[in-house]
Amino acid sequence: MFYLTHIRGQGESIPTRTFVGMSAKMSTTRTLWLPTLLFGLLSAGSLVFAYNHNGTSAVLMGLWGLGFVLWTFVEYCVHRFLGHHPDPRWDIDDHRYHHRHPTQVSELVFEYRFSATTMALFTTIAWIATKDASNCFALISGFSLGYLCYEWIHMATHVPQHIPFFSRRTQRHRRHHSGTGKCDYGITTGFWDCVFRTTSKKKEITNGSLR
Ligand SMILES: [Zn+2]
Ligand SMILES: [Zn+2]
Repeated sequence: MFYLTHIRGQGESIPTRTFVGMSAKMSTTRTLWLPTLLFGLLSAGSLVFAYNHNGTSAVLMGLWGLGFVLWTFVEYCVHRFLGHHPDPRWDIDDHRYHHRHPTQVSELVFEYRFSATTMALFTTIAWIATKDASNCFALISGFSLGYLCYEWIHMATHVPQHIPFFSRRTQRHRRHHSGTGKCDYGITTGFWDCVFRTTSKKKEITNGSLR
């Protein structure tokens, strides 16, 4: 299966991807609307399915919240341990490219094949852990909503906007891009940075360039 490849490099020559699974450096245009549509439907549909299949509200909402929190943990781990792994072969989503080109919005969204794979893996684990359709779908609903929040928040931190909700997250993510890249890994929340002591000591970056 061949891809059409769109290159929007900024003076940098990037080999195009021509075949699924090829591990060369690549750059493909991605948009927020497709994951928003698919994962939004998945999140809403899963919650409705869970509610309609013998789920009790308190348990379902607890699992829904747990699914969301689990996403933030996955997000932190993928960013820290894969995106910033010393060996570039572990950098499955070419996070290094994002750090070199932080204003290239076409590269902000997680590659579709990785978001789909992550969702499939989580679904498998959720099913093994719960063995119950309604509980499993409640987890999936929270997890996929967490993923969507990540994509939208990450996008908001890299484009000009003045929405108060994003200002703290933008500051945190600017610290991540402006420093060594070894702090402030959380996008959706700084909670896991606090837990694992990777919060930056710097309080504010006002006009430092992203990298
Ligand atoms: Zn970023
Ligand atoms: Zn990073």
